[in-house]
Amino acid sequence: MQNQTAVVTGATSGIGQACAFALAEQGVNLILMARRAERLAALKDELSQYPVTVETYVLDVRELDKINEVFADVDAKHKVDILINNAGLALGLGNIDEGRIEQWEQMIDTNIKGLLYVSRAVIPKMREQNSGHIVNIGSMAGGITYPGGNVYCASKSAVHTLSEAMNLDLVGTNIRVSNVAPGAANTEFSKVRFDGNETQADAVYEGFTPLGAEDIADLIVYILNAPAHVNIQHTLVMPTAQR
Ligand code: NDP
Repeated sequence: MQNQTAVVTGATSGIGQACAFALAEQGVNLILMARRAERLAALKDELSQYPVTVETYVLDVRELDKINEVFADVDAKHKVDILINNAGLALGLGNIDEGRIEQWEQMIDTNIKGLLYVSRAVIPKMREQNSGHIVNIGSMAGGITYPGGNVYCASKSAVHTLSEAMNLDLVGTNIRVSNVAPGAANTEFSKVRFDGNETQADAVYEGFTPLGAEDIADLIVYILNAPAHVNIQHTLVMPTAQR
């Protein structure tokens, strides 16, 4: 992977940030995207210890016009070899009849539409160069619906389906698409889900040791390093004791 270039969405914390470090260790040049500008700037500073280039873009993956603007700039400067479609979130936990519609919209717009918009911006160039690897961050929730998880689970089920659909679209090319579906990982994810309520956030990990973001980043590096004729299309990675 040395000297390849990777786009990582949602790079400012958790799995996206861990991917940035893991890829930098492999000598991969980075194009990092997320909404929080200061976090991106701090991350760029921290990554200066690695002999790779780091470019950052403040980007909300729900904004199609901005995505097209950003990728016009990216395409003018770089050949993108790897896309990690990681930006995503869960909001709330509860029955559909009590659900908050603005939360549903944010999850659907980020987890499904954002992933589609960014993929739409990247795949044509990958097709032209006839190479590339897209890693979509799905979830165990895409295969197992848990109580109260409804819209989030549905959004991650869509990530699984869209990953399969992209592989079908790309049959006959050298482009691979991998859906990585983690179980519970200890990131900012739960704090975001419960709007900063630490008690509710911590309760998610009761009774087992959660994955660390680095565990998932290591898996992604393994998947990306597979020989070109091997496409690891779907991976479920769980904390050993999570039920
Ligand atoms: P974090 O909350 O730590 O990271 C989420 C990242 O997504 C942040 O960098 C955030 O950055 C970014 N993000 C959120 N909304 C947007 C947006 N609209 N546009 C651009 N970036 C956005 O959580 P994780 O690292 O855990 O989550 C990463 C992915 O992993 C998500 O897709 C999540 O669904 C998935 N996942 C997480 C699991 C877990 O238990 N943690 C389990 C299974 C899957 P910023 O706020 O700066 O935009």
